[in-house]
Amino acid sequence: MADPRALYQEVILDHNKKPRNFGSIAHASHHATGHNPLCGDHIEVSLHLGGDTIDDIAFEGESCAICKASASMMTVAVKGKTNSEAERLIEEFIAMTTGKLDMNSPNTVGRLKVFAGIAELPVRVKCAVLPWHTLHAALNATGSASTESGTASETLLAGPADS
Ligand code: ZN
Repeated sequence: MADPRALYQEVILDHNKKPRNFGSIAHASHHATGHNPLCGDHIEVSLHLGGDTIDDIAFEGESCAICKASASMMTVAVKGKTNSEAERLIEEFIAMTTGKLDMNSPNTVGRLKVFAGIAELPVRVKCAVLPWHTLHAALNATGSASTESGTASETLLAGPADS
């Protein structure tokens, strides 16, 4: 078995070099932009909902490697999922990266668990969760997400109170 840290490095490097679903889609039904002022990450997520299913999704923008890899893996993970399955994964990913997800309980994070260790790096958590907040904004037609907006998202980003 690979060392989790080595696997994390490998996944980040791979998705950074060859981001999946990078660009925009021609007939997006939903779109949002996300901004993380602390790092300078800026991404756009566009997707198409066919009925209740995310049948196409893409992202673009300027971001650090962690943000880009997270966005890339996110698009792979949610393509073909329903709106509600995607929302569940958004919640689980954010809980996982802020150390609040019990990894032994049933969850749908799958390969995304390579990001679990980032909970120990609070500054980078915001980079990893930005694409997910942006996807949530797109699905809810709110148009934009920020890691510093002071919305409900901010509560999720605050991390364990006892740390
Ligand atoms: Zn970043």
